[in-house]
Amino acid sequence: MAQLVDSMPSASTGSVVVTDDLNYWGGRRIKSKDGATTEPVFEPATGRVLCQMVPCGAEEVDQAVQSAQAAYLKWSKMAGIERSRVMLEAARIIRERRDNIAKLEVINNGKTITEAEYDIDAAWQCIEYYAGLAPTLSGQHIQLPGGAFAYTRREPLGVCAGILAWNYPFMIAAWKCAPALACGNAVVFKPSPMTPVTGVILAEIFHEAGVPVGLVNVVQGGAETGSLLCHHPNVAKVSFTGSVPTGKKVMEMSAKTVKHVTLELGGKSPLLIFKDCELENAVRGALMANFLTQGQVCTNGTRVFVQREIMPQFLEEVVKRTKAIVVGDPLLTETRMGGLISKPQLDKVLGFVAQAKKEGARVLCGGEPLTPSDPKLKNGYFMSPCVLDNCRDDMTCVKEEIFGPVMSVLPFDTEEEVLQRANNTTFGLASGVFTRDISRAHRVAANLEAGTCYINTYSISPVEVPFGGYKMSVKKLYQVMY
Ligand code: NAD
Repeated sequence: MAQLVDSMPSASTGSVVVTDDLNYWGGRRIKSKDGATTEPVFEPATGRVLCQMVPCGAEEVDQAVQSAQAAYLKWSKMAGIERSRVMLEAARIIRERRDNIAKLEVINNGKTITEAEYDIDAAWQCIEYYAGLAPTLSGQHIQLPGGAFAYTRREPLGVCAGILAWNYPFMIAAWKCAPALACGNAVVFKPSPMTPVTGVILAEIFHEAGVPVGLVNVVQGGAETGSLLCHHPNVAKVSFTGSVPTGKKVMEMSAKTVKHVTLELGGKSPLLIFKDCELENAVRGALMANFLTQGQVCTNGTRVFVQREIMPQFLEEVVKRTKAIVVGDPLLTETRMGGLISKPQLDKVLGFVAQAKKEGARVLCGGEPLTPSDPKLKNGYFMSPCVLDNCRDDMTCVKEEIFGPVMSVLPFDTEEEVLQRANNTTFGLASGVFTRDISRAHRVAANLEAGTCYINTYSISPVEVPFGGYKMSVKKLYQVMY
């Protein structure tokens, strides 16, 4: 795999085939045993087979957990400052290989190179941040009558499992590993079956940085392999990123052995644009909130509420700029949108647009399959970014998470009305408000039922800022695992 990463400078869209083993435990890459259920993994920009994903069975998951457990006994005994040193070295290696890892991420995931580079930066920053916390973890000293005292100790949980979504493969893997490792835990994580390629590089880098052999492990697979992790008696915690329906199953399965669970789930976030906003900035915010990573972002603000008085100007500008988004080869720096993750995902998103039209929405632009002019992209999973007008709160496109480049625009008249409508959802991940009125901005932020509220900006997630949620979007039982 190191060789594959090193070969990236000369790689181009449509040129890479991954043949390396994609599992990792005991400090080395491992070939999967059972070839019967092999699944092809596609390059979204070309529709070409990039590699084969062979899911891990019970025996292999058990080996990975055993590897983690053995290493945990050493890692958990190390001082925080020693763990920190190793983690900082891992962050340094990622920084050094950032461009190559980003390229591979683009080839597997379909997002643009500009975004992937940002993701890899977010990954090493997260590791660096938690490396900084590792030496600071301490217990309490409690004085009792008569000179007696008690104390608390912060103790790691043991083996923590991570189950990952496909939209930020390397970054989410780093987000799972960094807090767990800082606190002395070991990790086994399972990437999405659609993006198995870069997670294993992270495990290799931790090994190279000097963690005890077998501390960070990767098992490939889909629902069955994920379920094996949730049921494994020696897994102490499951941290899951994915959809609400799967999150519910993960919680249910983990309850059988009373595991700790963290769920980072979906969203249908509202964006409130008031008539006193700086329009240019609000339009930019709406584009950021809908079209990054081809619209496949959990925090996306896909319900765009616009105060009626400025609706015509807003729509004119947002449509003009949406039409100007360059869709095409994600490895070219001028490209702003690549292919969706898979053909079924593309069909699903186009199906949402068709349903929206049936329910009375008007397509102002996009929402069609797109074939870029470059012939090598003719079988890629591209579509034109879409703006829907004439939307109502009861439409499917306004209620359900589409997870594609589709913005639904809705008019509103008053602050009270829009808050009620914005909160009328089972999700509660993120939200945004655009206004020049500072009092209104903070009042609205306080009344929106969402983990994050962006004011006059959108789609930034610095590692220093907590990431939580309301209702079915997030259940964060332990932000930092100990
Ligand atoms: P998904 O729920 O289909 O799959 C997520 C992961 O769960 C995959 O690794 C999958 O293989 C695994 N899985 C599927 N069924 C399972 C089962 N029965 N038992 C155990 N594991 C199982 O989600 P996805 O399509 O990969 O990702 C998209 C979803 O993720 C969206 O809803 C998005 O909003 C959400 N997401 C949330 C965040 C967040 O931080 N809140 C971040 C990224 C993505």
